[in-house]
Amino acid sequence: MHYEGTIIRPPSEAFSIILQVTVGCSYNKCTFCGAYKNARFRVKSAEEIEEDLHFAAQHCTRQKRIFLADGDVLILSQEKLTDILTRIRARLPKVRRVSLYANARAIRSKTLGQLAELKKLGLDRVYMGFESGSNEVLNRVAKGETAESMIESANMVNESGLFLSVTTLLGLGGRELSEIHARESAETLNRMAPKQVAALTLMPLPDTELGRQYASGLFQLPDQREILSELRILVSSLTLDHTMFHANHASNYLPIEGILQKDKQKILDAVDSALAGTVNLVPEHMRAL
Ligand code: SF4
Repeated sequence: MHYEGTIIRPPSEAFSIILQVTVGCSYNKCTFCGAYKNARFRVKSAEEIEEDLHFAAQHCTRQKRIFLADGDVLILSQEKLTDILTRIRARLPKVRRVSLYANARAIRSKTLGQLAELKKLGLDRVYMGFESGSNEVLNRVAKGETAESMIESANMVNESGLFLSVTTLLGLGGRELSEIHARESAETLNRMAPKQVAALTLMPLPDTELGRQYASGLFQLPDQREILSELRILVSSLTLDHTMFHANHASNYLPIEGILQKDKQKILDAVDSALAGTVNLVPEHMRAL
């Protein structure tokens, strides 16, 4: 397979074939994100993609899932996306799940009919970088979205029948907006009705704008207890039902997962035990992005 730059995939795609169809992120302005800072966004050619599909057809015969990288694949034209999905069906007939990252803007660049067409052609899951449901936080990190615009995008994904998974970033509001970030993220998520929510924990990267704000003292990172309190506010305020909740990414201090609302109390009890100091947290040096 031909990979360029850093390849990032959601934890639930750990066993998927990774097919890189774009390089970088078409937006690339979020102040906390260092994933594609040095990559100039480009779309890979049909020939490059075809070569990788040919390789996967020969060497990845046991894998039933495929993830399309990089950061914002849904921004591709409908024509390009339908071509890629058609090729996947033809070359990898055993693949049962096709997933990709999409930012809210890319989702709104499609019509409902186009999203439904992609689903028909085999696209199954959309991972959306939500980060925060607080407009103040979104504005500070230059996400280029509002809570309302992300709700609109989520509604489109849900209406088209695609599976919506969203990622929120604990700590992104800093100490100052910690509680607002948690509470308003829950309120917005309740209106977005995703099938899956993943909570990661912010780790400021030195080569990002937020990393520089952190180093200069402009941005104050919540400590472990404050992150756990955010997690508690978030989970206790979520009214979503039958939604998978994961906070077991390598960046998290307390690995937890469950299904809301069924496991809500169990999750809250685990957070309370951690706050009481009766559970070991992931040590700082073991955390990673
Ligand atoms: S967080 Fe997502 S949208 Fe923002 S720059 Fe990174 S990849 Fe692009």
